[in-house]
Amino acid sequence: MSQQPDQDPKPLLINGEWVSGATESFDSINPANGKVNYALQVASHAQVDAAVASAKAAAAEPAWKNMLPHVRAQLLVRMADLIVQHGDEFARLQMQENGKVWSECKAQASSAAATFRYFASVCETLGSEITPSRGNYLSMTAYEPYGVVAAITPWNSPLTMEAQKVAPALAAGNAVILKPSEITPSPALLLGEIGLQAGLPPGILNVLTGDGAVTGKALVQHRDVRMVSFTGGTATGRSIGMIAAGRLIPVALELGGKSPHIVFEDANLDAAVQSIIGGIFEGSGQSCVAGSRLFVQASIYDEFIALLVKRSSTIKVDQPEVAGAQMGPLSSFGHRARIEKFVESAKAEGGQIALGGKRPEGSQFENGAFFLPTIITGLDNQAIAVRDEIFGPVLCVLRFEDEADLIAQANDSAFGLASGIWTANYQRAWRVARALETGLVWINTYKQLSISTPFGGFKDSGIGREKGVTGLRLYQQSKGIYWSMDPNNMG
Ligand code: NAD
Repeated sequence: MSQQPDQDPKPLLINGEWVSGATESFDSINPANGKVNYALQVASHAQVDAAVASAKAAAAEPAWKNMLPHVRAQLLVRMADLIVQHGDEFARLQMQENGKVWSECKAQASSAAATFRYFASVCETLGSEITPSRGNYLSMTAYEPYGVVAAITPWNSPLTMEAQKVAPALAAGNAVILKPSEITPSPALLLGEIGLQAGLPPGILNVLTGDGAVTGKALVQHRDVRMVSFTGGTATGRSIGMIAAGRLIPVALELGGKSPHIVFEDANLDAAVQSIIGGIFEGSGQSCVAGSRLFVQASIYDEFIALLVKRSSTIKVDQPEVAGAQMGPLSSFGHRARIEKFVESAKAEGGQIALGGKRPEGSQFENGAFFLPTIITGLDNQAIAVRDEIFGPVLCVLRFEDEADLIAQANDSAFGLASGIWTANYQRAWRVARALETGLVWINTYKQLSISTPFGGFKDSGIGREKGVTGLRLYQQSKGIYWSMDPNNMG
């Protein structure tokens, strides 16, 4: 087993060895200053084949396949310990690749370690089942791995997503080929190195960097990949789902969102406003669960928007490593250009810019992909900026009259990932929570997340649930076993 060499371009991890990619490479760019971080390599089709072959062989090895759950759990705990040891390195890699502020990058590194620990304990404690039988036989459900799992991740929270896929897939007994986003490839490479240090057999965790349309697609199409776990945009998820349907393999798709954050007139407005600001501007709005559609009851609309704009204008936008910075740059210059187009479309459709809507001024912002926290009013639910996922620090505000009007507007979206409700009326909270077509609902809070609680979307926001016990079962197939107990009727 080799240690990740400190070379440029960074190599790929295949079968426990660090190898050079194909002739192509691409630059990782720091969005805070536009400088090149380093070069990364593109895995060729032949390297995808090699990685899948090594994963298939490794997954079939009795030493891995039959590993006792408590021993497998120890491997995951060792990975958690190593993630903690390398916490600053993970945070720095993420910060320089996607521009998130240091405190968020650090928190995500800690949370990734906790994810490995959680799935270690699920692995050690989750049993098979004896099911009610209808005769003199034992009927059981056992759970088995798929074999080779492809895990494909986005750039906004790379390590978080990678931990949420790799930890349960390994806990379930699979081998994994991890394909990170071309914008944030380094945390995955470090995770691969940590896997080797923790003692994962060669081939059990391969890491391939490269282009989605080349490396990612080749993985999804590969005949020996038996399950695909994807987090990313809805269009990409749909194309992966179509290939998987043709191949008859299961997929887990965690996709985009346009989550409604709702304020009723009886809400604690002070708490609601803080939560709305965190819900959309944290991570520069590059969060799948960003509360990007704000619905405010008409009776408090003017008062609430004035408070929201006042508080949001104090958000500290700065270089991501600066102490106290609350918003760094966007993840790339191309992504900022995309967001600027949405803001222009909102203006063309009659939207008013209540805050931001442009790049910040100042020498520290000159070379980075910065954009100010932006609040847009005056649009209806049909406007492009309200319907499409912007994935940036842009909040569209809408008003509603009553509960029925709110539910109709909030559910009039292709997406269904998350929602937030602010009200003092617990009966209304329950009614609205059940009526909203979203996979997650927060009541009088927002963006609280626990690794034990299943996570995933309704409608175009995805298929399948990560996290929790379900998050491990996602990587297993069940097998029904019937065993006669009747010595006179063994036929
Ligand atoms: P993306 O869909 O462009 O890319 C995601 C990953 O897919 C990358 O690794 C990319 O290389 C790969 N990819 C691209 N085309 C592919 C193809 N044809 N076949 C296989 N792989 C391919 O998404 P992104 O821009 O990196 O991330 C932003 C999106 O991710 C947003 O829509 C966001 O909402 C979503 N997201 C969802 C969740 C969730 O849990 N629901 C979490 C985070 C991000």
